[in-house]
Amino acid sequence: MTEMNTNETFIPVGVSGRHVHLSREHLEALFGQGYELKKMKDLSQPGQFASEETVDIMTTKGAFTRVRILGPVRKDTQIELSLSDAVKLGINPPIRDSGNVTGSPGIVMVGPNGTITIDKGVIVALRHIHMTPADAERFGVKDKDVVNVECCGERAMTMGQVLVRVNEQFALEMHVDTDEGNAACIKTGQKVRIA
Ligand SMILES: [Zn+2]
Repeated sequence: MTEMNTNETFIPVGVSGRHVHLSREHLEALFGQGYELKKMKDLSQPGQFASEETVDIMTTKGAFTRVRILGPVRKDTQIELSLSDAVKLGINPPIRDSGNVTGSPGIVMVGPNGTITIDKGVIVALRHIHMTPADAERFGVKDKDVVNVECCGERAMTMGQVLVRVNEQFALEMHVDTDEGNAACIKTGQKVRIA
């Protein structure tokens, strides 16, 4: 039987609010030497978690308090904002694949142990779909492909320029930010499909 079960073509959505990933160096500058993040809850991607800790972030134009830190610590500090957040802060971060912070704007971060000014690290995450190699085969795509995604409902729309990320460690999920989620009127857990 070649007909695919329609259910299998759907991808759950995860809508990400603004958040911070910290390097070990920056974690210790903000929270103290030897500090370890405390897990508040697991995220859908294996090994990733929302920590109990938050930081305040600010520019000369604006600030956000209590921005959630996601663990574990990473090689480079990265602050992921929506474009609406960036407007409020008066900065112009690039739309980027996670992990690529070269040439991005910096920001001031305030933690309980100190305040740091980082010279780069603020990005708007490029929307993407995490999937396993088995998912990729099922969808007929490969790592770094760019696809269109159909969202149904009151604000039904097709999202273009969606990056496919394939890794054995991933769980199937499309990640969008709050601007994108609101534009399509979709919430975490709702389903979309590759067009
Ligand atoms: Zn993601």
